[in-house]
Amino acid sequence: MDETMEPTRKEILRSLPSAEELFQKTLGKRVGNLPKRALLEAAKEVLNEARAAVIKCSEEELETLPRSRAQWVEKLSGEVSRTVSWGLRPLINATGVIVHTNLGRSPLAPRAVEAIGKIASRYSDLEYDLREGKRGSRQSHIEGLLRRLTGAEAAAIVNNNAAAVLLSLTALARGREVVVSRGELVEIGGSFRMPEVMAQSGAHLVEVGTTNKTRLGDYEKAITDRTALLLKVHTSNYRIVGFTQEVSLEELVKIGRRASIPVMYDLGSGCLVDLRTYVEDGEPTVQEALEKGADIVTFSGDKLLGGPQAGIILGRKDLLDLIKAHPLARAVRIDKLTLAAMVATLELYWEPREAMDSIPTLRMIRAQSGELKSKARALVRSIRKEAPGISVGLREDHSKVGGGAMPLAKLPTWIVALKSEGMGAHELAKALRGWDPPIIARVFQDEVILDVRTMDKGDIPIVARALGSIATGEEATGRS
Ligand SMILES: *Cc1c(COP(=O)(O)O)cnc(C)c1O
Repeated sequence: MDETMEPTRKEILRSLPSAEELFQKTLGKRVGNLPKRALLEAAKEVLNEARAAVIKCSEEELETLPRSRAQWVEKLSGEVSRTVSWGLRPLINATGVIVHTNLGRSPLAPRAVEAIGKIASRYSDLEYDLREGKRGSRQSHIEGLLRRLTGAEAAAIVNNNAAAVLLSLTALARGREVVVSRGELVEIGGSFRMPEVMAQSGAHLVEVGTTNKTRLGDYEKAITDRTALLLKVHTSNYRIVGFTQEVSLEELVKIGRRASIPVMYDLGSGCLVDLRTYVEDGEPTVQEALEKGADIVTFSGDKLLGGPQAGIILGRKDLLDLIKAHPLARAVRIDKLTLAAMVATLELYWEPREAMDSIPTLRMIRAQSGELKSKARALVRSIRKEAPGISVGLREDHSKVGGGAMPLAKLPTWIVALKSEGMGAHELAKALRGWDPPIIARVFQDEVILDVRTMDKGDIPIVARALGSIATGEEATGRS
């Protein structure tokens, strides 16, 4: 210890517990059954940080620090459990955003979850042809199903849609030109930007038209003997409105056919059932894109399809053969658990009604106002009972599809708006996030908003109890 250090600082340093002490107090109380070594390591790390903070902090901050071993243990044990809580945590999505990319996009249907469980702990015929007794292809388990469900001539599945686009462009257009409308140079979630993906693929981007208007002639003029593809990108997360013009897929296909150039359509969301009866601003389906003559169609597995993260490529067999044979295909290949879950999810689509009822994403999109209202009412009742200190309001509002799909779609929903006397809205939302399981809500103006559309019935008592404890904890500190 430094001789010049103030006595208080020295005293505080001496009051820090040992790693062993912190471990004893933390064990079992907060952290499940982790081995001692993991907890001791974490305790040492946390103590080192605390020690450094005591040495460095200002005199005012020093005043706020614990002075006794017991206080330190109380302060640091939570820190230790946070340090060792690796991995994903299931949580309650009360945002009303259905395909929430940050929250894992689509929850899986029970059948898909079962399929993962069945394959995960055993060997399987992933790349083994049981009839011939030799090496097979992992694509063989899903291609027939995708072809039959969509009418495509050939199909492939990869790690995600960004990979599907990158692989298709690389295999079909490397070193050559791809024509795209300026109105369709999309960015999805910050890291997927069409021009940059294009650059990575080695294809040269030829932009045509303007942001708001692209005409047939713009494409026609851009076609040369270096053109490899005409690309159409579904503007899944934005719309250009007002003085606009775009070339329809049918028209683009006509130009492509005339010039013998394939047309690729990045659909993004990949809806296999028609949701337009439920949602204004609904998406065109995958089947429609193929019927209209797109030679290659790409889309995500975990957006509107409601399956696991994956990218699906459908289209002409000669083009799919090139895509599957490209060396990059190996780098973006799908893993066996995802494959199992995707097959199980797709099988639900044999009966579109069954898909609508048992795929959580589709069920949440279709949930009607009456059903949502009774769920919201149950939540209000439960909160009033468990957390009388919190004021609750029941109101109509709108949910979002999310995941960059149907950006204008407003799904009428019922929300529960919360206000706590002693706590600001952001503070309350933070306390809910800190709950186990974490509860993710929206803050709007000075209220915390819970949208029941993305909540399970089983979430209701959990949220109510969390609010009850948060509100009483708040009172307790208020009194002291
Ligand atoms: C979402 C999206 C992508 C990226 O798909 P991921 O599955 O997230 O990789 C690409 N293009 C469009 C148009 C999209 O909407």
